[in-house]
Amino acid sequence: MHEMSVALSVVDQVEQAARPGGARGVRRVTVEIGELAGVVPDALAFCFELACAGTLLEGAELVTRSVPGRAACAPCGRAWDTGMPPDMICAGCRGGATGLLSGRDLRITEVHWSALPTAPDPTPVPRHQEN
Ligand SMILES: [Zn+2]
Repeated sequence: MHEMSVALSVVDQVEQAARPGGARGVRRVTVEIGELAGVVPDALAFCFELACAGTLLEGAELVTRSVPGRAACAPCGRAWDTGMPPDMICAGCRGGATGLLSGRDLRITEVHWSALPTAPDPTPVPRHQEN
């Protein structure tokens, strides 16, 4: 399933970003999903939950936002929402020199995690010993 590889990649990227920050657990991840990215949000949410098991993201909530596909015509400068399936022919000049402005990407926009209360320090905190 396409969504599974996307979910694994999201989990991987979030872990790499969260670990150096001293994260204990990731609570919420927000991703923007382009309309033309070929990712079904419900399927992604399902795969995300599975991909999170045993990682820093275990139990994290996935918030998805849909980004509409936008196209622009180079010769006349017109821009429009492509819809799905995408309409790539300019209604102004009927030209086919169309470029996609947005809607193809999947992007992590926000990650919420609970950080350690102490300042980042690689050495372990010494334990108090009672005499
Ligand atoms: Zn045009």
